[in-house]
Amino acid sequence: MSAFNEKRTTHNQERVLRLSGLEPLVITPESNFINVGERTNVAGSKLFLRLIKEEKFDEALAIARNQVEGGAQIIDVNMDDGLIDGKEAMVKFLNLIVSEPDIARVPIMIDSSKWEIIEAGLQVVQGKCVVNSISLKEGEETFIHQAKLIKRYGAAVIVMAFDEVGQADNYERRIEIAKRSYDILVNKVKFAPEDIIFDLNIFPVATGMEEHRRNAIDFIEATRWVRKNLPYCSVSGGVSNVSFSFRGNNTVREAMHSAFLYHAIKAGMNMGIVNPTMLEVYDDIPKDLLEHVEDVLLDRREDATERLLEFAETVVGTAKESKVDLSWREEPLQDRITRALVKGIDQYIVEDVEEARLSVEQPLEVIEGHLMTGMNVVGDLFGSGKMFLPQVVKSARVMKKAVAHLTPYIEASKDKNTKAAGKILMATVKGDVHDIGKNIVSVVLACNNYEIVDLGVMVPPEKIINKAKEEQVDIIGLSGLITPSLDEMVFLAKEMERQNFNVPLLIGGATTSKAHTAVKIDPMYSHSVVHVNDASRAVTVVGDLLHKDSENYKKSIKLDYESFREKFLNRGKQKEYLSLEEARKNKLQIDWNPSDVKEPSQLGIQVLEDVDLNLLRDYIDWTPFFRSWDLHGKYPDILKDEVVGEHATDLFKDAQVMLQRIFDEKLLKAKAVFGLFPANQINGDDIEVVTKGEEAIFRTLRQQSKKREGVPNIALADFIAPKESGIEDYIGCFCVSTGFGAQELAETFEKEHDDYNSIMVKALADRLAEAFAEYLHKEVRTNYWGYTDDEQLDNTALIAEQYQGIRPAPGYPACPDHLEKLTIWELLDVEKNIGVTLTESLAMWPAASVSGYYFAHPQAKYFGLGKITQDQVADFANRKQITLEKAQKWLAPNIADDH
Ligand code: SAH
Repeated sequence: MSAFNEKRTTHNQERVLRLSGLEPLVITPESNFINVGERTNVAGSKLFLRLIKEEKFDEALAIARNQVEGGAQIIDVNMDDGLIDGKEAMVKFLNLIVSEPDIARVPIMIDSSKWEIIEAGLQVVQGKCVVNSISLKEGEETFIHQAKLIKRYGAAVIVMAFDEVGQADNYERRIEIAKRSYDILVNKVKFAPEDIIFDLNIFPVATGMEEHRRNAIDFIEATRWVRKNLPYCSVSGGVSNVSFSFRGNNTVREAMHSAFLYHAIKAGMNMGIVNPTMLEVYDDIPKDLLEHVEDVLLDRREDATERLLEFAETVVGTAKESKVDLSWREEPLQDRITRALVKGIDQYIVEDVEEARLSVEQPLEVIEGHLMTGMNVVGDLFGSGKMFLPQVVKSARVMKKAVAHLTPYIEASKDKNTKAAGKILMATVKGDVHDIGKNIVSVVLACNNYEIVDLGVMVPPEKIINKAKEEQVDIIGLSGLITPSLDEMVFLAKEMERQNFNVPLLIGGATTSKAHTAVKIDPMYSHSVVHVNDASRAVTVVGDLLHKDSENYKKSIKLDYESFREKFLNRGKQKEYLSLEEARKNKLQIDWNPSDVKEPSQLGIQVLEDVDLNLLRDYIDWTPFFRSWDLHGKYPDILKDEVVGEHATDLFKDAQVMLQRIFDEKLLKAKAVFGLFPANQINGDDIEVVTKGEEAIFRTLRQQSKKREGVPNIALADFIAPKESGIEDYIGCFCVSTGFGAQELAETFEKEHDDYNSIMVKALADRLAEAFAEYLHKEVRTNYWGYTDDEQLDNTALIAEQYQGIRPAPGYPACPDHLEKLTIWELLDVEKNIGVTLTESLAMWPAASVSGYYFAHPQAKYFGLGKITQDQVADFANRKQITLEKAQKWLAPNIADDH
């Protein structure tokens, strides 16, 4: 399988510092100053130290998040404190960061004076981090040893200007130590020079001590020297040190930081630890203050320090407020709970709910009071289009966490008569395995205080009926993605009628439509049947159906479906159809030429096991991913969309984190089987496949609607050379899956009440399956079949199908008949080879699977079969040797009425 092992071509990369969290951070000579967040440092932040000591990691994470939101491009993490186990805290904190996309997107700086803490951090951090720091303090041997390890861990390093003698505190010592360190690293350790960052020691000025007068200017000049003489390295430093003498006077400090940076950056300092909220815009520093500050920094006058001290007394502390915005934590309890629900912040909810519980008599009051108040705000925002589906699902996660905390108390208090707004049964019907849409609707309804009885996927009708009775549900919701599910829904409607049900029936899922609901389901049930295909409408519809004055609404729905049905059926009658025979005469005529047919380089069946999921990342088509979350628009434009851009971006980030986890921990398995065979078109619409064993025949279906002059009635068989032509042609078929492990992974999230991530896993597994189909198709075209070799298509071009050949999938418009999957399964021995199975409705399990055919002819294209007439149904039954009823059942969605 050479193609699957091929190495990416390594580009001759420039010598620039490349770091990464989930996202890359490439620091080029043109880059702006990189600022490193320092608040996640127990030595520098009392608050952080306290949170770590008290093991309040959620809140500690909030500080990290705040740093990133405040503009930090790297975050420095330091756990050096005598009272905590630094190693354990470092590992724990770094591991927690991994699951926080907003934080994990930036690179980490592992900061410790203890090598063992650094190494523990290096072992768990993801991406390319920076070690802060190493130095020659303990001699060359240790320095080299540590540098070698850092190199092996693939990190960049900060080298302190420190040697056996001590810390560099003047210009000469700084350059002497920097040069010596650089030479050892680059020549002895073979450390990439672009991965070296010097910290040239920023020390306080204006201390009143003569020897500190040149602290800032020496740093700046040494920086200039290092950048000029030690190629490719970077220079960093902790900026706030410089203003240490002015603690308490933030106006002066902010001005000092900005002025210092202004000069240091000009000299070549390209990164540093700076508190962004402690910076004034250089140009906004009042001129007189600036002059006094620069006099000190640049050591321009003998009396600079005294003058600045004097001046400092006159400037009032107009310090800007810190942006670490946890101020909402001071708000009243209800506001905090509402905010947590609206923003989807789950880290304080248990604490807040507990406070609420202690304030009421019955724990249930918290759900019905505090939580519902918050969820009503969520509902209003969602209803008015100000909030989007991914956020609502995150809100649900907070809600569930809160309810989980309260449940034991509610049970203990025996007051179990919850007053849900209604009870709704949800199920994906028998034979169908798809549940993303159903789960989203369930979550949204649950957010609106409905109690959901979710029966999962592949639910037999008896079970739905029995559960509905047992639980006395108020509504039944059915979902399905593949066409045979439509029949199941019709069956259920009939059964509900027969058993004298009167609860409304909701119909949803990709294969359903208002037309099918109106024409096929609604007439079977005398009570309400409503087609609902998006989550926000589900809330309104359910609300209307369960409202105490719902009778009028129910009547109007019934009338609406009736008139829709009439219009729809009449429209159908106006269509004209050809007989099957006429349609065959008007087939697509390809001028068969041996040179248009290429014998596959590798005929026969091949199995690919454990394909590296990483390979598929670049083949993902993200647009349908957003659609599955009800965010509509094309990727990547959707990320910048005026209305949904922000939400799409958040969702996308979360998806990247989960995807990375799936890759890193190999949580899903990708498998494929495909085959390339000699084949010819026979008997009009069949494709005869020559295999080593028995021959197989694919039955294709032909368009029958009357076309304009010159437009053919196509069947897929037209794309394969007819036997009479004497040309040996070829066809391929395949099944790929990335679903192995998806269900288990989703369940681990469900157990934690995290529907958001459960749905995320399934949506990503689906995306990977499509990406795998795309990738394998490319490999087939260019390699296994090899009918094109000059393809230069990027992902956009692949998504736009700008290649020769197609991979139609049974169940899709050109070949809506699912039965052909059975032929593919037999031909490729799919179940034995890769373990993908077919349900009774011929849905593939695991759900994240794709199967189809390969056609290579340049004229092969996708089309829609449209409606066919009974003569073709009978012909099909005959060819497949199945009963007419069976053919009618499987082809039902495509059979024209009254023909
Ligand atoms: N890039 C998209 C592909 C969507 S279409 C994604 O990631 O979701 C998915 C597949 O549907 C196609 O690759 C093809 O296998 C099948 N398909 C599309 N149109 C079809 C048609 N008219 N007839 C049969 N199969 C079709």
